[in-house]
Amino acid sequence: MSGQHLIDRERLFGAQNYAALPVVLAHGRGAHLYDVDGRRYVDMMSAYSAASFGHLHPRLVKAMRDQLERLDIVSRAFHSDNLGAFYEELAGYAGLDACLVMNTGAEAVETAIKAARRYGYDELAIPQDTAEIIVAHGNFHGRTTTIVGFSDDPAARRGFGPFAPGFSHVPFGEAAAVERAITPATAAVLIEPIQGEGGVIVPPAGYLAELRRICDRHGILLILDEVQSGFGRTGRDFAFMHEDVRPDAITVGKALGGGLLPVSAFIATRRLMNVFTPGSHGSTFGGNPIATAVGREAVALMRDEALAERSRRLGEVQLGALRELRSPAVLALRGKGLWAGVELDPGAAKAKDVCLALLRRGVLAKETHESVLRLAPPLVIEEADLLAAVRALGEALDEACLERARAAD
Ligand code: PLP
Repeated sequence: MSGQHLIDRERLFGAQNYAALPVVLAHGRGAHLYDVDGRRYVDMMSAYSAASFGHLHPRLVKAMRDQLERLDIVSRAFHSDNLGAFYEELAGYAGLDACLVMNTGAEAVETAIKAARRYGYDELAIPQDTAEIIVAHGNFHGRTTTIVGFSDDPAARRGFGPFAPGFSHVPFGEAAAVERAITPATAAVLIEPIQGEGGVIVPPAGYLAELRRICDRHGILLILDEVQSGFGRTGRDFAFMHEDVRPDAITVGKALGGGLLPVSAFIATRRLMNVFTPGSHGSTFGGNPIATAVGREAVALMRDEALAERSRRLGEVQLGALRELRSPAVLALRGKGLWAGVELDPGAAKAKDVCLALLRRGVLAKETHESVLRLAPPLVIEEADLLAAVRALGEALDEACLERARAAD
Protein backbone atom coordinates (compact mmCIF):
# COMPACT_ATOMS: atom_id res chain seq x y z
CA MET A 1 0.00 0.00 0.00
CA SER A 2 1.40 3.42 -0.91
CA GLY A 3 2.37 5.98 1.70
CA GLN A 4 -0.31 8.37 0.46
CA HIS A 5 -2.98 5.69 0.78
CA LEU A 6 -1.94 5.04 4.39
CA ILE A 7 -2.05 8.76 5.17
CA ASP A 8 -5.53 9.04 3.63
CA ARG A 9 -6.72 6.14 5.73
CA GLU A 10 -5.50 7.83 8.93
CA ARG A 11 -7.27 10.98 7.87
CA LEU A 12 -10.51 9.17 7.07
CA PHE A 13 -10.77 7.16 10.28
CA GLY A 14 -8.80 9.26 12.76
CA ALA A 15 -9.18 12.58 14.56
CA GLN A 16 -7.34 15.48 12.96
CA ASN A 17 -5.52 16.43 16.17
CA TYR A 18 -2.00 16.37 14.66
CA ALA A 19 -0.68 17.99 11.50
CA ALA A 20 1.82 15.24 10.73
CA LEU A 21 4.47 15.58 8.03
CA PRO A 22 3.72 13.45 4.94
CA VAL A 23 5.96 10.49 5.77
CA VAL A 24 4.84 7.02 6.85
CA LEU A 25 7.40 5.28 9.03
CA ALA A 26 7.70 1.53 9.05
CA HIS A 27 10.81 0.73 11.05
CA GLY A 28 13.65 2.28 12.99
CA ARG A 29 17.01 1.57 14.61
CA GLY A 30 19.10 3.93 16.68
CA ALA A 31 18.92 7.44 15.24
CA HIS A 32 17.50 6.23 11.92
CA LEU A 33 13.92 5.79 10.79
CA TYR A 34 12.76 4.19 7.53
CA ASP A 35 9.56 4.87 5.60
CA VAL A 36 7.30 2.33 3.92
CA ASP A 37 9.39 2.60 0.74
CA GLY A 38 12.58 1.80 2.65
CA ARG A 39 13.94 5.39 2.52
CA ARG A 40 16.19 6.25 5.45
CA TYR A 41 15.88 9.38 7.61
CA VAL A 42 17.96 10.84 10.42
CA ASP A 43 15.65 11.36 13.40
CA MET A 44 16.23 14.88 14.73
CA MET A 45 13.20 14.82 16.95
CA SER A 46 13.26 11.60 19.05
CA ALA A 47 9.48 11.51 19.50
CA TYR A 48 9.63 14.68 21.64
CA SER A 49 12.50 13.05 23.60
CA ALA A 50 10.62 9.77 24.21
CA ALA A 51 13.14 8.06 21.93
CA SER A 52 16.22 9.64 23.50
CA PHE A 53 17.93 6.22 23.61
CA GLY A 54 17.35 5.84 19.88
CA HIS A 55 14.84 3.44 18.38
CA LEU A 56 14.70 -0.13 19.67
CA HIS A 57 17.81 0.07 21.81
CA PRO A 58 18.83 -3.62 22.17
CA ARG A 59 19.18 -3.44 25.96
CA LEU A 60 15.74 -1.90 26.39
CA VAL A 61 14.16 -4.39 24.01
CA LYS A 62 15.83 -7.24 25.89
CA ALA A 63 14.65 -5.92 29.27
CA MET A 64 11.10 -5.75 27.96
CA ARG A 65 11.28 -9.18 26.30
CA ASP A 66 12.71 -10.80 29.44
CA GLN A 67 9.92 -9.28 31.49
CA LEU A 68 7.31 -10.52 29.00
CA GLU A 69 8.52 -14.05 29.64
CA ARG A 70 7.83 -13.62 33.35
CA LEU A 71 5.01 -11.35 34.42
CA ASP A 72 2.70 -8.86 32.73
CA ILE A 73 0.28 -6.44 34.38
CA VAL A 74 -0.98 -7.28 37.85
CA SER A 75 -2.19 -3.84 39.05
CA ARG A 76 -1.05 -2.07 42.17
CA ALA A 77 -3.59 -4.02 44.20
CA PHE A 78 -0.63 -6.36 44.75
CA HIS A 79 3.10 -5.87 45.10
CA SER A 80 5.39 -6.89 42.25
CA ASP A 81 8.97 -8.02 42.55
CA ASN A 82 10.73 -5.19 40.67
CA LEU A 83 8.90 -2.10 41.81
CA GLY A 84 10.81 -1.34 45.00
CA ALA A 85 14.13 -1.48 43.17
CA PHE A 86 12.75 0.79 40.44
CA TYR A 87 11.65 3.36 43.04
CA GLU A 88 15.03 3.26 44.74
CA GLU A 89 17.05 3.53 41.53
CA LEU A 90 14.88 6.26 39.99
CA ALA A 91 14.73 8.37 43.15
CA GLY A 92 18.50 7.95 43.62
CA TYR A 93 19.14 8.94 40.00
CA ALA A 94 17.17 12.16 40.55
CA GLY A 95 18.70 12.85 43.97
CA LEU A 96 15.27 12.68 45.63
CA ASP A 97 13.63 10.26 48.06
CA ALA A 98 10.51 8.62 46.66
CA CYS A 99 8.57 7.96 43.45
CA LEU A 100 4.99 7.64 42.32
CA VAL A 101 4.91 6.02 38.88
CA MET A 102 2.27 6.89 36.29
CA ASN A 103 2.17 6.55 32.48
CA THR A 104 2.06 9.81 30.55
CA GLY A 105 3.80 13.08 31.29
CA ALA A 106 0.47 14.81 31.80
CA GLU A 107 -0.43 12.30 34.51
CA ALA A 108 2.85 12.95 36.28
CA VAL A 109 2.05 16.68 36.22
CA GLU A 110 -1.49 16.02 37.50
CA THR A 111 0.12 14.04 40.31
CA ALA A 112 2.37 17.01 41.09
CA ILE A 113 -0.62 19.35 41.21
CA LYS A 114 -2.48 17.06 43.62
CA ALA A 115 0.61 16.69 45.79
CA ALA A 116 1.20 20.44 45.90
CA ARG A 117 -2.39 21.23 46.83
CA ARG A 118 -2.63 18.58 49.55
CA TYR A 119 0.72 19.68 50.96
CA GLY A 120 -0.60 23.24 50.97
CA TYR A 121 -3.60 22.23 53.10
CA ASP A 122 -1.87 19.69 55.35
CA GLU A 123 1.49 21.38 55.90
CA LEU A 124 1.06 25.07 55.08
CA ALA A 125 -2.41 25.54 56.60
CA ILE A 126 -3.81 27.06 53.41
CA PRO A 127 -7.63 27.26 53.72
CA GLN A 128 -9.32 24.29 52.01
CA ASP A 129 -9.89 24.58 48.24
CA THR A 130 -8.04 27.86 47.84
CA ALA A 131 -4.47 26.69 47.11
CA GLU A 132 -2.64 28.39 44.26
CA ILE A 133 0.20 27.19 42.08
CA ILE A 134 2.40 29.66 40.23
CA VAL A 135 3.13 28.69 36.60
CA ALA A 136 4.89 30.43 33.72
CA HIS A 137 3.49 32.08 30.64
CA GLY A 138 4.28 29.97 27.59
CA ASN A 139 4.24 26.75 29.63
CA PHE A 140 3.49 23.33 28.25
CA HIS A 141 2.71 20.58 30.75
CA GLY A 142 0.36 18.29 28.82
CA ARG A 143 -3.21 18.03 27.59
CA THR A 144 -5.62 17.27 30.43
CA THR A 145 -8.36 19.83 31.03
CA THR A 146 -6.72 21.07 34.24
CA ILE A 147 -3.37 21.46 32.52
CA VAL A 148 -4.60 23.17 29.33
CA GLY A 149 -6.60 25.39 31.68
CA PHE A 150 -3.36 27.04 32.78
CA SER A 151 -1.74 27.03 29.34
CA ASP A 152 -1.89 30.29 27.43
CA ASP A 153 -1.83 28.66 24.01
CA PRO A 154 -5.22 29.42 22.39
CA ALA A 155 -5.00 26.31 20.16
CA ALA A 156 -4.67 24.07 23.23
CA ARG A 157 -7.52 25.78 25.14
CA ARG A 158 -10.20 26.87 22.70
CA GLY A 159 -13.56 25.27 23.40
CA PHE A 160 -12.36 23.13 26.32
CA GLY A 161 -13.41 25.29 29.31
CA PRO A 162 -14.58 25.72 32.01
CA PHE A 163 -11.13 25.31 33.52
CA ALA A 164 -9.97 24.61 37.07
CA PRO A 165 -9.02 27.68 39.14
CA GLY A 166 -5.93 27.90 41.33
CA PHE A 167 -3.13 28.92 38.95
CA SER A 168 -1.43 32.26 38.58
CA HIS A 169 0.99 33.22 35.82
CA VAL A 170 4.36 34.91 35.75
CA PRO A 171 6.76 35.64 32.88
CA PHE A 172 9.19 32.74 32.32
CA GLY A 173 12.77 33.48 33.32
CA GLU A 174 12.04 36.31 35.77
CA ALA A 175 12.56 35.04 39.30
CA ALA A 176 11.53 38.36 40.89
CA ALA A 177 8.09 38.04 39.25
CA VAL A 178 7.58 34.74 41.08
CA GLU A 179 8.28 36.37 44.42
CA ARG A 180 5.80 39.16 43.64
CA ALA A 181 3.13 36.60 42.72
CA ILE A 182 3.34 34.67 46.02
CA THR A 183 0.28 35.04 48.27
CA PRO A 184 -0.67 33.34 51.56
CA ALA A 185 -2.52 30.76 49.42
CA THR A 186 0.51 29.82 47.30
CA ALA A 187 1.53 26.19 47.70
CA ALA A 188 4.04 25.73 44.89
CA VAL A 189 5.85 26.99 41.84
CA LEU A 190 5.57 24.58 38.90
CA ILE A 191 7.94 25.34 36.07
CA GLU A 192 9.82 23.77 33.16
CA PRO A 193 13.58 24.35 33.61
CA ILE A 194 13.69 25.00 29.85
CA GLN A 195 10.44 25.58 27.99
CA GLY A 196 10.40 22.89 25.31
CA GLU A 197 7.14 23.24 23.41
CA GLY A 198 7.35 26.98 24.06
CA GLY A 199 10.31 27.06 21.65
CA VAL A 200 13.31 25.71 23.59
CA ILE A 201 13.41 28.85 25.74
CA VAL A 202 16.46 28.80 28.03
CA PRO A 203 16.06 31.03 31.11
CA PRO A 204 18.93 33.23 32.34
CA ALA A 205 21.68 31.45 34.29
CA GLY A 206 20.87 31.39 38.00
CA TYR A 207 17.08 31.34 37.46
CA LEU A 208 16.46 27.98 39.12
CA ALA A 209 18.81 28.73 42.01
CA GLU A 210 17.00 32.01 42.59
CA LEU A 211 13.61 30.23 42.44
CA ARG A 212 14.91 27.79 45.06
CA ARG A 213 15.90 30.65 47.37
CA ILE A 214 12.52 32.36 46.90
CA CYS A 215 10.55 29.16 47.54
CA ASP A 216 12.61 28.48 50.68
CA ARG A 217 12.11 32.01 51.92
CA HIS A 218 8.32 31.62 51.63
CA GLY A 219 8.15 27.96 52.66
CA ILE A 220 6.56 26.85 49.39
CA LEU A 221 7.38 24.00 47.03
CA LEU A 222 9.57 24.16 43.94
CA ILE A 223 8.38 21.57 41.43
CA LEU A 224 10.20 21.23 38.13
CA ASP A 225 8.65 19.60 35.10
CA GLU A 226 11.54 17.60 33.62
CA VAL A 227 9.32 15.49 31.35
CA GLN A 228 11.16 16.79 28.29
CA SER A 229 14.34 18.25 29.80
CA GLY A 230 15.21 15.20 31.94
CA PHE A 231 17.23 12.11 31.11
CA GLY A 232 20.24 13.86 29.66
CA ARG A 233 18.49 16.05 27.14
CA THR A 234 20.22 19.23 28.34
CA GLY A 235 23.66 17.72 28.93
CA ARG A 236 23.10 16.82 32.58
CA ASP A 237 20.92 14.00 33.90
CA PHE A 238 18.33 16.62 34.85
CA ALA A 239 18.26 20.28 33.87
CA PHE A 240 18.13 21.39 37.52
CA MET A 241 21.58 19.88 38.01
CA HIS A 242 23.14 22.69 35.95
CA GLU A 243 22.45 24.96 38.90
CA ASP A 244 23.05 22.58 41.75
CA VAL A 245 19.59 23.06 43.23
CA ARG A 246 17.43 20.37 44.80
CA PRO A 247 13.77 20.82 43.90
CA ASP A 248 11.07 19.43 46.21
CA ALA A 249 9.84 17.33 43.31
CA ILE A 250 10.19 16.73 39.61
CA THR A 251 7.99 15.17 37.00
CA VAL A 252 9.56 12.87 34.41
CA GLY A 253 8.23 10.85 31.49
CA LYS A 254 9.08 10.37 27.84
CA ALA A 255 12.63 8.85 27.87
CA LEU A 256 11.84 6.94 31.08
CA GLY A 257 9.79 4.58 28.89
CA GLY A 258 12.81 3.97 26.65
CA GLY A 259 10.76 4.77 23.54
CA LEU A 260 8.94 1.47 24.07
CA LEU A 261 5.96 2.37 26.23
CA PRO A 262 4.63 5.28 28.32
CA VAL A 263 6.24 5.50 31.75
CA SER A 264 6.19 8.67 33.84
CA ALA A 265 6.79 9.52 37.46
CA PHE A 266 6.44 12.12 40.15
CA ILE A 267 9.67 12.03 42.17
CA ALA A 268 9.73 13.93 45.44
CA THR A 269 11.09 14.37 48.92
CA ARG A 270 9.73 11.88 51.43
CA ARG A 271 7.87 14.63 53.27
CA LEU A 272 6.00 15.71 50.13
CA MET A 273 5.31 12.15 48.96
CA ASN A 274 3.74 11.41 52.33
CA VAL A 275 0.66 13.45 51.37
CA PHE A 276 -0.53 10.42 49.39
CA THR A 277 -2.56 7.89 51.34
CA PRO A 278 -4.34 4.74 50.09
CA GLY A 279 -7.15 5.66 47.73
CA SER A 280 -5.96 9.24 47.15
CA HIS A 281 -4.33 8.64 43.77
CA GLY A 282 -3.42 5.87 41.37
CA SER A 283 -3.46 4.39 37.92
CA THR A 284 -4.25 0.89 36.67
CA PHE A 285 -1.13 0.78 34.52
CA GLY A 286 1.23 3.02 36.52
CA GLY A 287 4.19 1.05 37.86
CA ASN A 288 3.22 -2.14 36.05
CA PRO A 289 5.94 -4.81 35.80
CA ILE A 290 6.66 -4.20 32.10
CA ALA A 291 6.99 -0.44 32.59
CA THR A 292 9.11 -1.12 35.66
CA ALA A 293 11.51 -3.39 33.78
CA VAL A 294 11.96 -0.86 30.97
CA GLY A 295 12.24 2.10 33.36
CA ARG A 296 14.96 0.37 35.40
CA GLU A 297 16.94 -0.37 32.24
CA ALA A 298 16.49 3.23 31.02
CA VAL A 299 17.99 4.57 34.27
CA ALA A 300 20.85 2.04 34.07
CA LEU A 301 21.56 2.97 30.44
CA MET A 302 21.87 6.66 31.25
CA ARG A 303 24.76 5.76 33.53
CA ASP A 304 26.31 2.90 31.56
CA GLU A 305 26.43 4.84 28.28
CA ALA A 306 27.18 8.22 29.93
CA LEU A 307 24.44 9.71 27.79
CA ALA A 308 24.14 13.03 29.60
CA GLU A 309 27.83 13.71 28.94
CA ARG A 310 27.39 12.63 25.32
CA SER A 311 24.48 15.05 25.03
CA ARG A 312 26.62 17.87 26.46
CA ARG A 313 29.48 17.18 24.04
CA LEU A 314 27.37 16.63 20.92
CA GLY A 315 25.15 19.55 21.93
CA GLU A 316 28.15 21.83 21.57
CA VAL A 317 28.89 20.30 18.17
CA GLN A 318 25.26 20.84 17.13
CA LEU A 319 25.11 24.44 18.30
CA GLY A 320 28.50 25.20 16.74
CA ALA A 321 27.40 23.78 13.37
CA LEU A 322 24.11 25.69 13.55
CA ARG A 323 26.01 28.95 14.18
CA GLU A 324 28.01 28.33 11.01
CA LEU A 325 24.88 28.30 8.87
CA ARG A 326 24.46 32.08 8.90
CA SER A 327 21.08 32.00 7.17
CA PRO A 328 19.27 35.36 6.94
CA ALA A 329 16.11 33.48 7.99
CA VAL A 330 17.51 32.66 11.47
CA LEU A 331 16.68 35.25 14.13
CA ALA A 332 18.08 33.38 17.13
CA LEU A 333 19.62 30.09 18.19
CA ARG A 334 18.99 28.65 21.63
CA GLY A 335 19.80 25.39 23.30
CA LYS A 336 21.47 23.25 25.89
CA GLY A 337 22.78 19.75 25.32
CA LEU A 338 21.29 17.99 22.31
CA TRP A 339 18.31 20.31 22.31
CA ALA A 340 18.20 23.37 20.11
CA GLY A 341 15.59 25.86 19.03
CA VAL A 342 16.13 27.72 15.75
CA GLU A 343 13.95 30.82 15.77
CA LEU A 344 13.02 31.81 12.24
CA ASP A 345 11.95 35.13 10.81
CA PRO A 346 8.43 34.22 9.59
CA GLY A 347 8.80 36.87 6.89
CA ALA A 348 11.82 35.02 5.48
CA ALA A 349 10.89 31.34 5.87
CA LYS A 350 8.07 29.31 7.38
CA ALA A 351 9.18 26.65 9.86
CA LYS A 352 6.77 24.14 8.31
CA ASP A 353 8.36 24.69 4.86
CA VAL A 354 11.79 24.13 6.39
CA CYS A 355 10.57 20.82 7.89
CA LEU A 356 9.19 19.73 4.52
CA ALA A 357 12.47 20.65 2.81
CA LEU A 358 14.34 18.69 5.49
CA LEU A 359 12.07 15.71 4.93
CA ARG A 360 12.97 15.72 1.23
CA ARG A 361 16.62 15.60 2.34
CA GLY A 362 16.12 12.62 4.65
CA VAL A 363 15.94 14.49 7.97
CA LEU A 364 12.96 14.40 10.33
CA ALA A 365 12.29 17.48 12.46
CA LYS A 366 9.17 19.36 13.49
CA GLU A 367 8.40 22.97 14.14
CA THR A 368 6.93 24.29 17.38
CA HIS A 369 4.82 27.45 17.42
CA GLU A 370 5.11 28.03 13.66
CA SER A 371 8.37 29.95 13.83
CA VAL A 372 10.70 27.69 15.82
CA LEU A 373 12.42 24.61 14.54
CA ARG A 374 13.21 22.22 17.36
CA LEU A 375 16.19 19.86 17.07
CA ALA A 376 16.34 17.06 19.63
CA PRO A 377 18.00 13.98 18.15
CA PRO A 378 18.41 10.72 20.06
CA LEU A 379 21.32 11.04 22.49
CA VAL A 380 22.96 8.05 20.80
CA ILE A 381 23.21 9.84 17.42
CA GLU A 382 26.61 9.65 15.70
CA GLU A 383 28.41 12.94 15.15
CA ALA A 384 28.51 12.37 11.37
CA ASP A 385 24.71 12.04 11.22
CA LEU A 386 24.29 15.12 13.37
CA LEU A 387 26.53 17.21 11.12
CA ALA A 388 24.84 15.88 7.97
CA ALA A 389 21.46 16.86 9.41
CA VAL A 390 22.65 20.40 10.17
CA ARG A 391 24.09 20.69 6.65
CA ALA A 392 20.71 19.59 5.28
CA LEU A 393 19.12 22.27 7.45
CA GLY A 394 21.30 24.91 5.76
CA GLU A 395 20.01 23.80 2.34
CA ALA A 396 16.42 23.52 3.63
CA LEU A 397 16.57 27.08 4.96
CA ASP A 398 17.76 28.36 1.58
CA GLU A 399 14.97 26.48 -0.19
CA ALA A 400 12.28 27.69 2.24
CA CYS A 401 13.52 31.30 1.86
CA LEU A 402 13.22 30.99 -1.93
CA GLU A 403 9.71 29.55 -1.61
CA ARG A 404 8.69 32.39 0.68
CA ALA A 405 10.15 35.00 -1.67
CA ARG A 406 8.33 33.41 -4.63
CA ALA A 407 5.05 33.37 -2.67
CA ALA A 408 5.51 37.06 -1.82
CA ASP A 409 6.07 38.04 -5.51
N1 PLP B 1 5.48 18.23 30.44
C1 PLP B 1 6.33 18.67 29.49
C2 PLP B 1 7.40 19.63 29.86
C3 PLP B 1 6.20 18.22 28.18
O1 PLP B 1 7.03 18.67 27.24
C4 PLP B 1 5.16 17.30 27.88
C5 PLP B 1 4.97 16.82 26.50
O2 PLP B 1 5.51 17.33 25.54
C6 PLP B 1 4.31 16.88 28.90
C7 PLP B 1 4.50 17.35 30.18
C8 PLP B 1 3.20 15.92 28.62
O3 PLP B 1 3.66 14.64 28.37
P1 PLP B 1 2.69 13.55 27.70
O4 PLP B 1 2.49 13.97 26.27
O5 PLP B 1 3.42 12.25 27.84
O6 PLP B 1 1.41 13.59 28.47
